[in-house]
Amino acid sequence: MYFSIMKDTTRHQGKRRLLAQIVEKKGVSNTAVLDAIRKIPRHFFMDSSFEDHAYQDKAFPIAADQTISQPFTVGFQTELLEIKKGDKILEIGTGSGYQTAVLCEVGAKVYSIERQQELFRKTKNFLSKLGYRPKRLTFGDGYLGMPEFAPFDGIIVTAGAPYIPKPLLAQLKIGGKLVIPVGDEVQTMIRIVRKTQTDFEKKEYGEFRFVPLLEDKN
Ligand code: SAH
Repeated sequence: MYFSIMKDTTRHQGKRRLLAQIVEKKGVSNTAVLDAIRKIPRHFFMDSSFEDHAYQDKAFPIAADQTISQPFTVGFQTELLEIKKGDKILEIGTGSGYQTAVLCEVGAKVYSIERQQELFRKTKNFLSKLGYRPKRLTFGDGYLGMPEFAPFDGIIVTAGAPYIPKPLLAQLKIGGKLVIPVGDEVQTMIRIVRKTQTDFEKKEYGEFRFVPLLEDKN
């Protein structure tokens, strides 16, 4: 993407330390997650002309009418997954790849799906240039999950879902967690833990705003 012309300076690094502090103050305490925010050059994931926005705790438009999620939201969702090194994590909505990079940094084996062809191509190429090696990046419909690689220790949905897709529940290990914002205009963050083959425990974690999880690929 813009990698070849972008630089990561001490000024950027300083801004990231402040960003991590803001995210921590808002309630994220997992040190691996905060370290990832301090480490990943978020300005590389945005158009260079918007560099000044990269280290504010805000979502921001990227290509194809989509957004890079707010750093607090990325941190909060990642923390809810309680990832252990080597866990298999499925991400729905690759987008800019920023959340994918955070998952890689905290030690997950990452599988990610994106429904926008343009974003999928761009981000796949970009992440590999940055040195991130997710296990699989696919172009497809996240409502279906990735049955060929299931079951997963965790599934994270990074777009607002009108309902909880059944295939995602089916692709969780016992003890596995699904973190998903559910709702139309405003979404409630929900974490579902699979207790047994048939029992799922559900908890709510406040309101968020995401771009919609759309059916089918484009
Ligand atoms: N994790 C991203 C967030 C991007 S916004 C980041 O950190 O930048 C949500 C993304 O979900 C968008 O890229 C959108 O195209 C994608 N998306 C929406 N519906 C989808 C679906 N059904 N399957 C896969 N991706 C989807």
